[in-house]
Amino acid sequence: MTMMNGEDYLKSIQAMKNVVYVNGERVEEFWAHPLLKPAFNSLRLTYDLESNPDMHPELHSLLRAESELTGGTVSRFLKIVTSTEDLIGRMTMQRVLMRYTGGCFGGRCIAGAVINPLWSVTYEVDDESNGATDYHERFKTYMKRVHEKGLTVMGNITDAKGNRSLPPHKQADPDMFVRVVEKRKDGIVVNGAKLQQSGAPFAHELIAVPTTALGPKDADYAVAFAIPADTEGVIFVNDSACANAKFAAMDPEDIGNAAFGMHQSAHVILDHVFVPNERVFLCGEWEATRHLVHRFSDYQRLSSSSCRCGYIDLCMGAAEAMADYNGVGKVAHIRDKLVDMSIDAETLYGLVAGSAAMPEITRSGVALPNTFFVNAAKLYMNDAVLKAGHRLAEIGGGILVTRPSHYDFEIPKVGELLTKYHKGREGVKVEDRIKMARLAESLSGLACLTPILSVIAAGPPATQRLNFRLLTNFERNRKAAERLAGTSE
Ligand SMILES: Cc1cc2nc3c(=O)[nH]c(=O)nc-3n(C[C@H](O)[C@H](O)[C@H](O)COP(=O)(O)OP(=O)(O)OC[C@H]3O[C@@H](n4cnc5c(N)ncnc54)[C@H](O)[C@@H]3O)c2cc1C
Repeated sequence: MTMMNGEDYLKSIQAMKNVVYVNGERVEEFWAHPLLKPAFNSLRLTYDLESNPDMHPELHSLLRAESELTGGTVSRFLKIVTSTEDLIGRMTMQRVLMRYTGGCFGGRCIAGAVINPLWSVTYEVDDESNGATDYHERFKTYMKRVHEKGLTVMGNITDAKGNRSLPPHKQADPDMFVRVVEKRKDGIVVNGAKLQQSGAPFAHELIAVPTTALGPKDADYAVAFAIPADTEGVIFVNDSACANAKFAAMDPEDIGNAAFGMHQSAHVILDHVFVPNERVFLCGEWEATRHLVHRFSDYQRLSSSSCRCGYIDLCMGAAEAMADYNGVGKVAHIRDKLVDMSIDAETLYGLVAGSAAMPEITRSGVALPNTFFVNAAKLYMNDAVLKAGHRLAEIGGGILVTRPSHYDFEIPKVGELLTKYHKGREGVKVEDRIKMARLAESLSGLACLTPILSVIAAGPPATQRLNFRLLTNFERNRKAAERLAGTSE
């Protein structure tokens, strides 16, 4: 079976009628809008990598897997995960892909977080209903089509939630969680919103599941279903993250990783959307939501933790390059910090690998990552990513945020002077130092200036440590300890 390439994927999205708003305006060609394009590029690239063995042979093979539904090849993002080998394949793919793009491919990776939990939960619900439900067969049929067509399937989990302390049925507005508002012979009508959905407008299909475990009074909210992203009543509203505003305001040449370096999300409003029966995978089975929520949380933690290992790899690479360009590549405190970044990346990866090595196999055969290890990984990742950005800023220097624009380097005479004063060590092109600084700024995640200013301005941390090295009265303290111990010297 031939797989879609990037061009095919672009055409397939162009053929859809998704309703997308950006900054208050309806945007028809949303995939090309500066505030969405880098995120779209990340997804498009996955299709090129899957279909073209020459582009990046390692990723090509990591991104492809065997489909148990068609017998052909399918994107690993869509594969039903049934073994440690599958889980390891998944985590390796995520790390290597992030190291390659430095951008979020959330629109694809979240598929695994809903497909596998739904596969297992629908199996269990049908098993326990003694034939009264056929959700698993429906889901299987649906997934077979998804595999055949190689679709991008977006997992829509997070509800609006309103008052976070109240369950759905106690909310002042009943639509704070997506719910069934009408049951018809041929399907259901759902209403509500799924907020903060990564890459959602670029999906062919949306799969919605409840965001929280539900009780008996919330049965109307216990609904899981799939719809094409351009179904009537579906509205996407793009986020307005300041960090992404640079893509609209600046020349791509002045932005680090302009092609992919963005995380984009959109709010997905489901305004009385009809879902035909064959696309409904849970409807009222509130008891099943506890497993569903637990499983998709763990899957997404496996994905995001693996992906951030690749992110730390990139931060490490940019930090080492900047240190070298600045002429301090071999300095001890810098090598120590690079090693610390590596320790974080490998510890994180080890925790994820542990979760893959000791999976729980569900009745349907789906393998779930070990809960303890994968949650430990996510917690470790939260700090490790922040520390990587901080270390990158500390090693890279103020140039990450103070570099002039490429236009300034083109000003007659001034440009030459800027080039002269932006030199690092001999043998390194100023242009390369500036390019790496742009990437480092973008990767550090500290582009709002104050964090980098705080780390670097008034002297980088190594200079503050130097004061302690020079001024601490080590001799006095040692003598005090020797006196107490009663040693001879
Ligand atoms: C960039 C980005 C991309 C995302 N992508 C996706 C996606 O692709 N798909 C998807 O489904 N979701 C996505 N999310 C949503 C993400 O899963 C949620 O942000 C997360 O679950 C937290 O929900 P919230 O933002 O509504 O925070 P809140 O629920 O408002 O939480 C804020 C704080 O309140 C606390 N809190 C909330 N409720 C309670 C309570 N009952 N008791 C005690 N404390 C409470 C929380 O612990 C937290 O500290 C994304 C989020 C972001 C920021």
